[in-house]
Amino acid sequence: MTFKELGLVEPILRALQDQGYERPTPIQAQAIPVLLEGKDLLGCAQTGTGKTAAFSIPIVQDLYNRAPPKGKRRIKTLVVTPTRELAIQIGENFTAYTKYTDIKNTVIFGGVKQTSQVYKLHQGVDVLVATPGRLLDLINQRYISLDHIEHFVLDEADQMLDMGFIHDIKKLLKILPTKRQSLFFSATMPSSIVKLSNEILGNPARVTI
Ligand code: AMP
Repeated sequence: MTFKELGLVEPILRALQDQGYERPTPIQAQAIPVLLEGKDLLGCAQTGTGKTAAFSIPIVQDLYNRAPPKGKRRIKTLVVTPTRELAIQIGENFTAYTKYTDIKNTVIFGGVKQTSQVYKLHQGVDVLVATPGRLLDLINQRYISLDHIEHFVLDEADQMLDMGFIHDIKKLLKILPTKRQSLFFSATMPSSIVKLSNEILGNPARVTI
């Protein structure tokens, strides 16, 4: 299996080549085709499996395949992840895979001043990677609107619950558009996680590594 055989467009293939990726990892080979079809996904996978590329590449391709934004850029993809380190890594992945496109991303997290994050948001981004607390904070201050979200990714869901973010996630679910593609990743699948995934996903494809 090659990335080309997965049906990826030239600018993404070139970016993957620049990264030195020769072949899709197992989770990528499984997840990319179903995500390109627009299906929801339940992924049971740890970090280190190539999970981030598995979800970000098809999202980039979907964004790329649309007409370029007229007027103000809207946030169309939201990735929520428990820690600042993961958020930064995911943002770096998006930056790498979009290098030959016009797609823009930014990363927000707590523990630092919001000024530069708000400035980037104001300039307009297509993809937002966020930790839950700062995300809700900036939504409440009206710096972020989720009205145009088409792809929602909940990453490391089990860690998110362990860190006590369940109420934040529930609040987010209330304001996200119901018509969206949702992706849910967790390294473990205890019943609390299965319950949460059922609230987020509609008839998902399943991928286990
Ligand atoms: P992740 O599981 O998303 O944290 O990815 C783990 C590491 O594998 C990251 O450093 C990625 O850049 C790298 N990686 C992801 N996909 C591939 C691939 N198809 N070939 C080689 N390296 C990859």
